[in-house]
This record gives sequence, C-alpha cells and structure tokens, in this order.
Amino acid sequence: MASTTDSKIILITGANKGIGFATARHLGRAGHTVLLGARDPHRGETAAATLVQDGLDARYLHLDVTDPTTVDDAALHIADEFGHLDALINNAAITGDRGRPPSGLPTGVLREIYETNVLGVVTTTNTMLPLLRRAAAGRIANVSSGLGTIAILADPDSPLRDYARLLGYNSSKAALNAITLVYAAELTGTTITVNAVSPGFCATDLNNHTGVLTADEGGAHIAHQIDFSPASPHGVFLSDQGGTYPW
Ligand code: NDP
Repeated sequence: MASTTDSKIILITGANKGIGFATARHLGRAGHTVLLGARDPHRGETAAATLVQDGLDARYLHLDVTDPTTVDDAALHIADEFGHLDALINNAAITGDRGRPPSGLPTGVLREIYETNVLGVVTTTNTMLPLLRRAAAGRIANVSSGLGTIAILADPDSPLRDYARLLGYNSSKAALNAITLVYAAELTGTTITVNAVSPGFCATDLNNHTGVLTADEGGAHIAHQIDFSPASPHGVFLSDQGGTYPW
C-alpha cells in the first residue's frame, strides 16, 4: 500500500466474506480502522470478531446497500464516532446470471443485480460523501471487473471471452465504470480521488470458486490500490497487475 503513515477510517461494503473481508484484513494489518459493512448482523459481527481476535481495529456496521435507511444509519454512526471517513470501498456486489443466456435472463433478476451493483454504489457514495469531504484526503474505490470493460467485451480474442455473456453482471460493472468517471469528473480539483479498482480473478462464492487467485490475494490487490498520498491516481481503472485497465 502506498504512503500511509497514519491510521485511516475505511468503510468497506460487503465485507463479511470474500474479497471485501480480505481487503479489510489487509487494511487492518496496515494499521487502519476498518468498518465492515454487512447486510446480515450475524455474518458481519462474526467477520469483525475474527479480525479483532487478530488484534485489528475492526468494527461491524449494519449496511445493506439496497436499503438507504441502513446506509443513512451507518453514516450517522461514522459521524458520531469518527467525525469523518477517509475511504469508501464500494465492494458489495451480486451476480444472478451465471448459467443463463442474456436472452433468458428475467428482467427481475437484472433489476436485482442493478439495485446492488449500480444503485447501491450511488446510494452509498452520495450518503458517505459529506464524511469523505471532511477527510484530509478522501478516497473512493469502486471494485470493478475486467468484465465491465467494453474494450474487453468487444475483443473476440479476449481471455475473458467465456464470461462475455453475463448480461446483468457485466453491464452492471460497465455502468459502475461510467459512474466512477462521472464522480471523478465532479470531484476533480477536490482532495477526494475516485477510481475503479480490480482484485483479479479470485475464487469466491460469487463465481462458485472458479477464480485462479485466492480472496486473500484479491484483497491484497485492492488494499494496495488505495493510495492516500497526494500522488494518488484519479479517474482511472487500476489493474490488479499494476497499471490501468482500459474502460
Ligand atoms: P462474494 O460473493 O464472496 O462477496 C460479496 C459480498 O457482497 C458479500 O459479503 C455479500 O454479503 C455482499 N453483499 C451482497 N449484496 C449486498 C448488499 N445488498 N448489501 C451489502 N452487502 C452485500 O464476492 P467477491 O468477494 O468475489 O466480490 C467482491 C467484489 O469483487 C464484487 O464487487 C465483485 O464484483 C468484485 N470482483 C470479484 C472478482 C472475483 O473474481 N471474485 C473479480 C473482479 C471483481 P452476503 O454474505 O450477505 O451475501
């Protein structure tokens, strides 16, 4: 991780398992206070307790990105306890279209995917933005995927070609990429940076553990991409391989 000399307050959505949990562990080990957003209290409390047992400053926050009331309550809690937020990692996401061709995906499933992967990010970002503005150097990291990159979806020789037909997931991540750039444009000239970040292809529940990296490796990639230094990139899609992805 780049240039963190002091402890930061970092909120990660969907942090009770998978890459979000691993990201929390890596950032906690770096000395930061990690707020584990989770929609299920038992899963969230258990995850936070695991990190606390490891000696990390980890707290569970009830946060369902599709339920604005929980997002509002989480922001009030952060304001009361810390007064500001240094980083928001929009990690929570779902997929519901594996094994279904685009032409066979019910609109209701598509809507559910968008509620979480797209609208949930907007709700959480807008609600947390006042707290990020109070930080010395606020950071917004949207966990995206190469499957949201139009250039990759358009490439018949892409190694990701086998996954090109995920209508809901891929288009939701493409929307997330656009959302990232739109927020970056609004926040250019402020102390807040906005980027899309990438964990790499990790074996998690999301993909029935077909990924080639571990969730821990994915979390390490995300943690590494959170840069609190003045040299932080802004408005780019950071690759887990280093450098950037095309949009
Ligand atoms: P997992 O399915 O393992 O974890 C997803 C997390 O999101 C869970 O904690 C889940 O909670 C949470 N979540 C889902 N819906 C909501 C909601 N409405 N509110 C709050 N939390 C919610 O997936 P991954 O760890 O693989 O994915 C994490 C991120 O990484 C996602 O954004 C994904 O798109 C991205 N990504 C993953 C890749 C991979 O190879 N795995 C590759 C590229 C990107 P619960 O336990 O309650 O379901």
